[in-house]
Amino acid sequence: MPELADKETVCRLYFYFREDVYESGKKKEAKSKGRRCILCCLRMLCQSLSDVGNRSISRSEGDRRSGNMYWLWKVCKGLSCNGNFNTGGDKMKKRWYDYLWIVSLLYLILGFFQILFAWLGLLCFFIPLIIAVVKGNKGYCNRYCGRGQLFEMIGGRFGLSRRKDVPGWMKSKGFRYGFLIFFFVMFFQMLWNTYLVFSGAESLRQVVTLLWIWKLPWNWAYHGVNVSPWAAQFAFGFYSVMLTSTVLGFVTMLLFKPRSWCVYCPMGTMTQLICKGKMRIEKDG
Ligand code: SF4
Repeated sequence: MPELADKETVCRLYFYFREDVYESGKKKEAKSKGRRCILCCLRMLCQSLSDVGNRSISRSEGDRRSGNMYWLWKVCKGLSCNGNFNTGGDKMKKRWYDYLWIVSLLYLILGFFQILFAWLGLLCFFIPLIIAVVKGNKGYCNRYCGRGQLFEMIGGRFGLSRRKDVPGWMKSKGFRYGFLIFFFVMFFQMLWNTYLVFSGAESLRQVVTLLWIWKLPWNWAYHGVNVSPWAAQFAFGFYSVMLTSTVLGFVTMLLFKPRSWCVYCPMGTMTQLICKGKMRIEKDG
C-alpha cells in the first residue's frame, strides 16, 4: 500500500487534470475524451488507495488527519476544489458553512454603511487561531473561510480568474513570512493609532486606508451611534485591513488561480505555523 504522501500526489494530480479539463472557461465541458478517461482513472486510483477500502472516508476523518487524507477524502467523495463539481462520486450535500461567502460579502457591504460592523471581523482573526491551537489543523481554511469561498466562486464559477499558476516567489517561505511580518507591523500601527485616540493625543480620523497608502474619506459610515472615539478608530483601522486584504486577494485571484491569496494570506501562514509547531510538540512529547 503506498504511503500517504503518494496518495496525496495522486490526488493532487487528479485535481490538476480536473481543473485542466473542466474549468478552462467552458464549464462542465470536457476538452477531450482522452483527458476525461485519465481523470476517471485517477479518481479510481484514489479510491483504491484509500486504506479504508470501500468504506467512504468521513468528512471529520478527512479533516482530522488533514493534509494527505483531506485530499483523498475530497477525491473519494467526488468533490472538486471549489466544491461544486461532482465527478460521479457521492452527490455533494451543501452544508451551512458552504454559504459563509455570503457573510464575507455582507461584512464588506455593512462596513460601507456603518463602520462599527468592522469589529465583527475579529471573528475571522480569532476563530482560525483557536481552531489551529485546539485542534491542530487548518479546519477554518478548509471549511469555514468565507473569503476563500468568495474568491473561489468569483474566480471559479464566474470565470474571472486567469487560472495561471502562482509564481514561485509568491509561494516561497521568504515572501510568505515577509508578508506576515509586514502585515503584523501594519496591524500594530493600527493598534497604535487606536491607542493615540484613546489617550486623547489624537482625534478620530474617519478614513479608510487602502493598501496602506491611500486614505479614502469614509465619514458617512460613522453616524447614529455614540461610541468612544477609540472604538470607532479601531473599526476604521480594522476595516482598512480587511478591505486591503480583500483587494489584494481579488487582484491575485484575477491574475492567477481563484484562491491564490491563500498562498500568502497571513492567517493561513499563521495557522500553518501553529499546526506545524503543535505537530512537532506532539512528536517530541
Ligand atoms: S488562507 Fe486565508 S483566505 Fe485562505 S482559506 Fe485560510 S484564512 Fe481564508
